[in-house]
Amino acid sequence: TTITRFAPSPTGLIHLGNVRTALFSWLAAHRGQGRFILRIEDTDAERSRPEYVAALMADLRWLGLHWEEGPEAGGPHGPYHQSERGAVYARYYHELEAQAFAYPCFCSPEELELSRKLQLSQGRAPRYAGACRRLSAAERAARLEAGHQPTLRFRVPEGQTVEFTDVVRGPQRFQSDDIGDFIIRRADGTPAFFFCNAIDDALMEVSLVLRGEDHLTNTPRQILLLQALGLPVPGYGHMALIVGDDGQPLSKRNGSRNVAELREAGYFPEAVDNYLARLGHSLDSDALLDLAGLAARFDAAHLGRSPARFDPQQLDHWQRQALLTLPWERIWAWLADYLATPVPESRREAFVTAVRANLNGPEEAELWAAACFGDAPLEPGAHAVIAGAPEALWPAALAALDTHGTDFKALAAQAGQAAGLKGKQLFMPLRAALTGQTHGPELAQLLPLIGPERARARLQRIAN
Ligand code: GLU
Repeated sequence: TTITRFAPSPTGLIHLGNVRTALFSWLAAHRGQGRFILRIEDTDAERSRPEYVAALMADLRWLGLHWEEGPEAGGPHGPYHQSERGAVYARYYHELEAQAFAYPCFCSPEELELSRKLQLSQGRAPRYAGACRRLSAAERAARLEAGHQPTLRFRVPEGQTVEFTDVVRGPQRFQSDDIGDFIIRRADGTPAFFFCNAIDDALMEVSLVLRGEDHLTNTPRQILLLQALGLPVPGYGHMALIVGDDGQPLSKRNGSRNVAELREAGYFPEAVDNYLARLGHSLDSDALLDLAGLAARFDAAHLGRSPARFDPQQLDHWQRQALLTLPWERIWAWLADYLATPVPESRREAFVTAVRANLNGPEEAELWAAACFGDAPLEPGAHAVIAGAPEALWPAALAALDTHGTDFKALAAQAGQAAGLKGKQLFMPLRAALTGQTHGPELAQLLPLIGPERARARLQRIAN
């Protein structure tokens, strides 16, 4: 079983890149009998906000990405907010210190900056030079007594090679000697990312960490840390980032929208899921799939290594697929709020079936509701078409309506023959007269909704 997690920092609204990470993690878990965990990485008390936690949970739920473990769902590995896991972290700090895998660091930011500049000027990659690594117990005690608040650093073992096989990027190899001792607890006592993120993955029994490739160089640090503690090391997959159509990281400027914006713009969650599931991931189906179907076809080995380009047109393609294939009740729920013209309950399914292929946004439904059940106001183009049609068409159409009712095919055949018209010459004026529009769904589907009475009145208003 694959156990995955999504571990957002609630410092803002989640964007499509985050959502894609969450989706792939969900799919990886649900491809089998796995579990998907939501963990809130809110150790940065100043920037984390409960409203962002609420927003990201609402976003995940809207997308159908329910979590088996996490806030509100509960689970055996809680609490799931890192801000509430201080006691857990204290235990592991203690253990690292007891085994001399961690030591307090008293270096000031100024000292660290100076050392960094020195290394850069010598053409070396800057890393912690180790000033506090060698302090004696007495020196440490003296500094503590003087009131210095130390950070806690992990003592990176010397001369080791860290290897792991990234499920996306293949074999990876790092030298521990290239990694400086890193901070695992800040001077104010809060846990640093490297530490709590890795500890929690191990304690929550996560088996696969899928995250952005910006974390790739963090992974050897986290593996060394887990090994020092004798904790299990999960598998890792570092995914290529999403870029905008200008090749730059996805942002507001190049077309990115957050989940709430997509929801408010009328996108179906299925459209977003189906689009993202194929963004930088090859999936062997062109059909709109539900999450279970996407999960069955998900393969982390099919994740691309180069940046995935966000394409709004592809998102719109999946929106169209959703419009065409979702159950009619879903389409009805999507458009109902935008209707001013009431649609009788018994006609809702037929209405949705008739118009769904003609909608871009839910607000366009009102045009067809008015055309079917309202007074079908004549748009200017329709006026022109009607004015250009032979007068004989109208009495012929009325007679055909009497004979055939709302069977449009039969009605048009009879009216066309009587008036000597066919093709566009026949259908355009009929459409204009019956719907008030010069374009739209099949008349064969609209006419039964319009019904014989309204159809007669509309033909008569022109015949007279
Ligand atoms: N809180 C981290 C982030 O949002 C999690 C990274 C990870 O998935 O390990 O970047």
